[in-house]
Amino acid sequence: MGDIPAREATVHMNTGRRQPLTLVRGQGTRVWDDEGKSYLDFIAGIAVVSLGHANPGLAEVIAKQASTLLQVSNLFYTEPQIELAELLVQHSALDRVFFCNSGAEANEGAIKLARKWGILNRNGAYEIIATHNGFHGRTLGSVAATGTPRYRDPFGPMIPGFVFVDYDDVEAIKAATTPQTAAVLLEPIQGEGGVNVPAPDYLRRVRDWCDEQGILLILDEVQTGTGRTGTLWAYEQAGIEPDIMTLAKGLGGGVPIGAVLSKEACSVFEPGDHGSTYSGNPLVTAAGKYVIQQLTEGGVLENVQERSGQLEQRLAGLEDRSPLVSGQRGAGLLRALVLTSDIAAEVATKAMGRGLLVNPVRPNVVRFMPPLTVTAAEIDEAVDIIDAVLTEVAAG
Ligand SMILES: *Cc1c(COP(=O)(O)O)cnc(C)c1O
Repeated sequence: MGDIPAREATVHMNTGRRQPLTLVRGQGTRVWDDEGKSYLDFIAGIAVVSLGHANPGLAEVIAKQASTLLQVSNLFYTEPQIELAELLVQHSALDRVFFCNSGAEANEGAIKLARKWGILNRNGAYEIIATHNGFHGRTLGSVAATGTPRYRDPFGPMIPGFVFVDYDDVEAIKAATTPQTAAVLLEPIQGEGGVNVPAPDYLRRVRDWCDEQGILLILDEVQTGTGRTGTLWAYEQAGIEPDIMTLAKGLGGGVPIGAVLSKEACSVFEPGDHGSTYSGNPLVTAAGKYVIQQLTEGGVLENVQERSGQLEQRLAGLEDRSPLVSGQRGAGLLRALVLTSDIAAEVATKAMGRGLLVNPVRPNVVRFMPPLTVTAAEIDEAVDIIDAVLTEVAAG
C-alpha cells in the first residue's frame, strides 16, 4: 500500500471510498497488489474488463494502434471508427451509431436524441419516463434521469422532464404517460440498483405500450450489453428491439468508449447537434472492434453461457447450505447473491482477505461480474471462497 492513501487524501477530491488495495497488474481474471498478493477479480473494473486483464490480443491491437494513430478528432474519417460502427449495426437491431467516451455520455446523447425526436415528431413532447433505483450516470443530464435521490439532491434543480416510476411495473408507465412523453428509459436489468431482474414479459409489455403510444423505448445497456448477460445484447432475451440503445463499460474491454445506437426512424441528429472531441477515436474503436469480434467469433459468448450456468448452480448450492443466503438473481455473468441481512460489505471485505474481489452493490447484495473469459476453475475457486466466508460469518 505504501503511503498512497495519505497522498490521495491531500490532493484528490473526496468522491468515494476505496478498498485499501493498490493494484499493480492483472492477467486474465486475476489482479495483483503492490505486495505481490493475487486476487480473483469478480468486479472486472465494474463489468468493463470483458476479455480479462492484459488480454494479449487486445493489448496487441491497442499497442499497434497507439503506434499508428491515436486521435484525429471527428473532423476526419478513420478506419477503426467505421469498422466498429459497421460491426455494431451488423450485430444489432439498430441502424445508426454515435460514439462517445462513457456510459453517462451515452445516456446524455440518448436523452438529447429522444428529446429532439419528440419535439419534432410528437408535438413538442420532451418528457422521459425513467425508473426508481435506475442508474444512468453522474453528468447533469444522466443524473437527472437517475432515480436515486442521494445522487441528485446535493446539486440543486435538476433538468426538468424526467418522471420516475417503479421498475418492473408496466401499469405505472402507462399511468405516467402523457402527451408530453417522448420516451421510456430503462435498464434491461438494473445493475447498480442491485441486479434487479424484471418479470420475463416486462420489456415486451413496455415495448407494446411504447408502440401503441408512439413513444420511444431507450434501453440503457451500458452494463448489460456486449455479452454480459449471455447474449450480445440483453434485449434479445426479451424478444424485442429498442429504438435507442446506449453502450459503454464492456464495449472497450478497458479503454473508455461509449456509444448511442438508434433506429433509422429516430436518428434525428443533424450536423452541429451533438459531438465530442475524443469520441470514437482510433484507439478506442480499434479496441471495441476487437472486443466485438471476440464475442461474436472468438467463442467468448459461448463461454459466458457455460460459465453463467455453472455460477448459477454453484450459488444455488450456497442457498441450500448457508442460512445467510436468501437467494440469487441475474443473467449471464451479471449475478447477485442475496443475503438475509445487511452483511454484504463484511462478506466482500472477508472475501478480499481470502483473495477474491466482489462488489457489495446493496447492503444485503453481493454482485459477481467476472471477465467474460473467466474459466470453470476460477468460478469454482470464487464460490469456494464465498462459501468459506459465509461459514466464517455464520460462526460469528
Ligand atoms: C455504469 C453505468 C452507467 C454510467 O457509466 P459511466 O461510464 O460510469 O458514465 C450508466 N448506465 C448504467 C446502466 C451503468 O451501469
